[in-house]
Amino acid sequence: MEIKVLGGGREVGRAAILLKDSGKSILLDYGVNFNEKDIPQLPMHVRPVDLSALVLSHAHLDHVGAAPILYISGNPRAVATKPTLDVAKLLTIDFLRINAYYIEYELREFDRMYDSTVFAEYGRDVEVDGFKITLYNAGHIIGSSTVYVETPSGGRVLYTGDFNTIQTWTLPGAETPPVSPTTIIVESTYGGRNHPPRHLVEKRLLEIVESTIDSGGVVLIPAFSVGRTQEVMTLLYSQAPYLEIYIDGMSRDVTEVYLKHKKYLRDPALFTRVVEGVEMVTDYSMRKKIMKKPCVIIASAGMLKGGPALYYLKHLSKNPRNSIILVSYQAVNSNGHELLETGVIKAQEIDKVDARLEWLDFSSHASGDDLARFVLRYRGSVKNIVIIHGSEEDALALASKLRRELGDDVNIYTPQNGESIELKQ
Ligand SMILES: [Zn+2]
Ligand SMILES: [Zn+2]
Repeated sequence: MEIKVLGGGREVGRAAILLKDSGKSILLDYGVNFNEKDIPQLPMHVRPVDLSALVLSHAHLDHVGAAPILYISGNPRAVATKPTLDVAKLLTIDFLRINAYYIEYELREFDRMYDSTVFAEYGRDVEVDGFKITLYNAGHIIGSSTVYVETPSGGRVLYTGDFNTIQTWTLPGAETPPVSPTTIIVESTYGGRNHPPRHLVEKRLLEIVESTIDSGGVVLIPAFSVGRTQEVMTLLYSQAPYLEIYIDGMSRDVTEVYLKHKKYLRDPALFTRVVEGVEMVTDYSMRKKIMKKPCVIIASAGMLKGGPALYYLKHLSKNPRNSIILVSYQAVNSNGHELLETGVIKAQEIDKVDARLEWLDFSSHASGDDLARFVLRYRGSVKNIVIIHGSEEDALALASKLRRELGDDVNIYTPQNGESIELKQ
């Protein structure tokens, strides 16, 4: 059995892992990354005809963004949950709208992939060409999965995908799959870091929102349209139902998908009430109107790369009674990062922000301690640990944390892209 890392080696995103056994292969995720100029970067090439299956852990573009390429000339069997592909379709449409020039596939290839997908339920086995594949809830976004694979020769591999062990307002925390893997492929986005306790982050958000509303201001919360928007609106509506909350941007469509797949949510009835209790912004005149009185506006894009969030920011940033609260990860070259670091966004002619500006950690990735704790639950069976989907610093930090606990009996790898690893079983 062998693993080849095609993407996601010592980098966050572009996840793509080829698992080979008995002359057959399956591909775990096939995502994209963006370089400093925001141009999409693909993982290494793989021939679709060589694949017994493609397993998609969740809908984020850094896990599915390159997958439709495999359907230009091929038609491999895909395995994913239904919400994964429904959300991925919305993200892909948006991705192609902006990046069609750089990307060789079109929406029809995504649709071919959709038609070739076996939709898996959590905990139920799917057999493809001698591989037995089982998905478990990963707690990261709706439909996100940790993937367990039994290979034709009897190898047992657990791939975490992106995962979050804590329960949030919208999702149950990740399951610990009841299996005995010999190999664990684990993400390491926060391999060397921990998050502040979530209840304190939530308390702080509520404090800022309430004091802003009390002083007659408007709160703008730029948020990712998948996951973060739904999480923040559920938190605010549950804890402060008297607030006027507006939702704007692609998150409106994503929220529809959440409603369609309610059974994946922690509390479907609560989420339905929240959607009925908040208001969707439907047109431009409504956008202008709502900013005239105290309210909360949750809008995409989460890193202020575009979307209505940028429009609101331009109108709200000069009033010191308003608050801008960033609740998403801010990539180094994003507008949101520039705003937090320098107080301006040069390219958008936002030269000075007088509104209150805050960043809060609502991450949907497990902390370094939780990542280690998860892996160590399998210390009885695990022989190989492959650390991916993290910066070099985070991947190495998780490796040394695990090394301290496990000693030299377990092989721990932090591969680069292109590296192959022969696995002991
Ligand atoms: Zn990811
Ligand atoms: Zn993700």
